[in-house]
Amino acid sequence: MNQAVLILIKPDGLKKSLTGNILTRLSETKLEIVAAKMARVSRELATEHYKHLTDKPFFDDLIKYLRGELHDRRKVMALVYWGEDAIKKCRDLAGATNPEEAESTSIRGSYGRITTSGVYENVIHVSSNADEAQREIQLWFAPEEIIVDLYPVKEAAEIKRQKKIWA
Ligand code: UDP
Ligand code: MG
Repeated sequence: MNQAVLILIKPDGLKKSLTGNILTRLSETKLEIVAAKMARVSRELATEHYKHLTDKPFFDDLIKYLRGELHDRRKVMALVYWGEDAIKKCRDLAGATNPEEAESTSIRGSYGRITTSGVYENVIHVSSNADEAQREIQLWFAPEEIIVDLYPVKEAAEIKRQKKIWA
């Protein structure tokens, strides 16, 4: 079954110059990249992304981590991969959430670490199931940023606003 999955290269992955490496590993899946961008991560976006973990003791540190406050990199790389069994393929390559438990050859096993405050800095986010993937992709991307029609859209009038154009 064809699926979409959200991948984030987290700020530690960017700081450690792992972008190329991670994309090369993900290319083993033969999945198609249908969206990609660098994104600044507002507090609202980070909190919404990790809303299932609001009650955890590490939540505040996790939000700081995703926003790049721990790595002086105020951005992440966000991508949508699409194809057969995309979620399992990407999660298998990523490895377990805890980098100490992740297979040593997996992305998280190779490059992740646990900080002294207990946050798993595991360099990459991968959606955990199809419902989460849809929720997350719709959170991180607008329909026109994705080159295939993944989910239903509707027409909406754009409110006129100031925007930057090339000088
Ligand atoms: N995390 C953590 N400590 C934990 C569990 C999770 O620091 O005990 C962090 C880790 O960065 C993880 C993220 O919170 O990637 C989201 O957790 P989730 O359980 O959704 O794991 P994932 O889907 O990323 O494998
Ligand atoms: Mg998760």
